[in-house]
Amino acid sequence: MSVKLIIVEWILEVLRAVSIYFLNRQARIKAEIYSIENEELDMRTISPIIRGGIIHDEKVLAMRRGLCSSCEHYTESNRCSLCKCFMQTKTNFSWSSCPIGKWGIYKATDGLTTTS
Ligand code: SF4
Repeated sequence: MSVKLIIVEWILEVLRAVSIYFLNRQARIKAEIYSIENEELDMRTISPIIRGGIIHDEKVLAMRRGLCSSCEHYTESNRCSLCKCFMQTKTNFSWSSCPIGKWGIYKATDGLTTTS
């Protein structure tokens, strides 16, 4: 194999890796912007299966979000540094829970939150 070919293939491999990095970065930024701009979820865009698991109790949502916003793992981009989730979105789901047990799954039947 010629040296020129090796160099060209190496450059292509580097460009491919850099492209993947920036595509992932772009997706993360878009998701972050979406999360910030859509604090209230648009229910029409959500699958019925997921929609059934969304919490409507404002007290529970406020409690979860309060715990997150005062948590040492909460980041400026409204994400949890442990689970990497966008907390304005994750806190809406009944089956979601904090990875270190600060808040747990929500059971609509008893109106309580429990640690999983
Ligand atoms: S999910 Fe738990 S660990 Fe993550 S920010 Fe919220 S309270 Fe903190």
